[in-house]
Amino acid sequence: MAPGEKEKPVAAVHKAGCFCGAVEIEVTGKPAFAGYCHCRDCQAWSAAPINAFSLWPSSSVRITKGEADIGTFHKTENSYRKYCKVCGGHVMTEHPRMRLIDVYANLLQGFAHQPTLHANYGSKMVSVKDGLPKFKDLPAELGGSGETLPD
Ligand SMILES: [Zn+2]
Ligand SMILES: [Zn+2]
Repeated sequence: MAPGEKEKPVAAVHKAGCFCGAVEIEVTGKPAFAGYCHCRDCQAWSAAPINAFSLWPSSSVRITKGEADIGTFHKTENSYRKYCKVCGGHVMTEHPRMRLIDVYANLLQGFAHQPTLHANYGSKMVSVKDGLPKFKDLPAELGGSGETLPD
């Protein structure tokens, strides 16, 4: 670095990968939204009652390894679910209408998941009494009704 040159703040980079490691991705910066999804599609896809999501602008997500091993399945136009064809591990879900990509928060290395809301609580399988807002579907900013439910 030249003398007098100021160091630019470096945006945080977090890596994520599939179950076997064939697929790797990187996200840069901060997610636009982070929380938990209780929708029936996430429940069925993840085989779990709740999906911890972090939504990133598409431009912040980069595939760094194994692009050819990524399979995509979409049941609706809202969600293109991406998984590793080698191990079946889930990696991320593209939401073209929102122009955001959900990178599963559990997979992001060194990432502190800071949830601010629960989405699709109307179809919850378990209650979470954490005091965060519980949206029946989605917040209005994400195209939902914005209606909230009790914990
Ligand atoms: Zn894999
Ligand atoms: Zn969901």
